[in-house]
Amino acid sequence: MSLNTHPSLPEFEYYRPETLIEASEFLVHHPAEARPFLGGTDIFVRMRDGMITPQFLVDVKNLDGMNTLRFDPQAGLTIGAAVNMNRVIASPEVQAHYPLLVEACQSVASYQLRTRATIVGNICNASPAGDTIGACLVLGGILNIHGIINSCQVPLATFFLGPGKTTLMPGDIVTAIHFPLPPQGCQGTYLKLGRNRLSDLSIVGVTVLGYPDTALSSGYRFRLALASVAPVPLLVTGLETSLADQAITPEVLREAAHLTAEACSPIDDVRGSARYRRQMVRNLSVRALSEVWEKLSSSN
Ligand SMILES: Cc1cc2nc3c(=O)[nH]c(=O)nc-3n(C[C@H](O)[C@H](O)[C@H](O)COP(=O)(O)OP(=O)(O)OC[C@H]3O[C@@H](n4cnc5c(N)ncnc54)[C@H](O)[C@@H]3O)c2cc1C
Repeated sequence: MSLNTHPSLPEFEYYRPETLIEASEFLVHHPAEARPFLGGTDIFVRMRDGMITPQFLVDVKNLDGMNTLRFDPQAGLTIGAAVNMNRVIASPEVQAHYPLLVEACQSVASYQLRTRATIVGNICNASPAGDTIGACLVLGGILNIHGIINSCQVPLATFFLGPGKTTLMPGDIVTAIHFPLPPQGCQGTYLKLGRNRLSDLSIVGVTVLGYPDTALSSGYRFRLALASVAPVPLLVTGLETSLADQAITPEVLREAAHLTAEACSPIDDVRGSARYRRQMVRNLSVRALSEVWEKLSSSN
C-alpha cells in the first residue's frame, strides 16, 4: 500500500436511524456501502487513510440500550455499545467489581481519545492489538447483537475470525457487552508493551485473571489472553489445564509462560519482529502470572 502524504476524509453520507430495526434494515440493504459507527476513532482514521471508503456511515450511538451502564449483583455488568471508555473507568461499580476492565481501558491512548472510544468499537474493529479485548475475554464477555432476523448473544471467545473479521453478518449491530459476575476473590492484571507509554498500539499485551477454585488440585484457576501476537486476540486455553494440577510455584509459572509463548503466532511488522514478540510474550506472561499470584496469595 502506498503512503498517502495528504490524508483527508473522503465524502460520505451520514445516516442517523431512529430505531435498531431501521438501522439493521439500512445496513442489510447496503452491505458493501454502509458501516455502523460509535466513537469513530477507528473508522475515521481508516477512511482518512483510504483503507475503506463507505458511502454511508450509520450513527448507532443513540439507539435503544446503547448508553446503558448497569451493574446487577445477581446478573453482572452490562456496558452499552456507545458507553465511552472514560465512563467505564469512572464507574464506581466497575471499579469495585471489574478493576481489570478499568486497567485495560486506561491503557488505551489518552484521556481525550477515551472520551470517544468505546469497548464495543475496540472489539468490532477486530484488531488483534485491541487493548480492552483481553480483559473482556478473561472476564467471559458476551456480546448482545441485534440482527435483521433476530437478536442473539455471542460469547466473545467465538467472535473473532481474523484481522478485521468477525462473525457479524450484514445488518448485525452489537448493542452491548455483558459480563457475568466476576469469580469470587479474583485478581487480574494487564501488561502492555508499546513503543511509548502514550497513544501507541501494543507490541505485545498480556492479560491475566486468577481466582481460587477448590475443584482444582492447585486450588487456583488462571485465564490468560494475548494481544498483537496472533491473527485474533488469543485466549490461551492450554494454560488453564497446565496450572490446574500442581501447586503453584515460581517454576510452574515459568513453565506456563513458556507454553503461552508456544501458543502464539506473531508476525514481523513496524512495531516489532516475530522473534522479539515471542520472547516478550514469555517475559510478560511470567510477570503477569507472578503479579496475579502474589495478589492472590496476599489476599487469602
Ligand atoms: C490516536 C489513536 C490512538 C489509539 N490508541 C489505541 C490504543 O492504545 N489501544 C487500542 O486498543 N486502540 C487504540 N486506538 C484505536 C481506537 O481508538 C479503539 O479501537 C476504539 O476502542 C474504537 O472505538 P470507537 O467507538 O471509536 O469505534 P468506531 O471507530 O466507531 O468503530 C470501530 C469499528 O467497529 C464497527 N462498529 C462500530 N460500532 C458497531 C456496532 N455497534 N456493531 C457492529 N460494528 C460496529 C465500525 O464499523 C468500525 O469498523 C487508537 C486510535 C487513535 C486514533
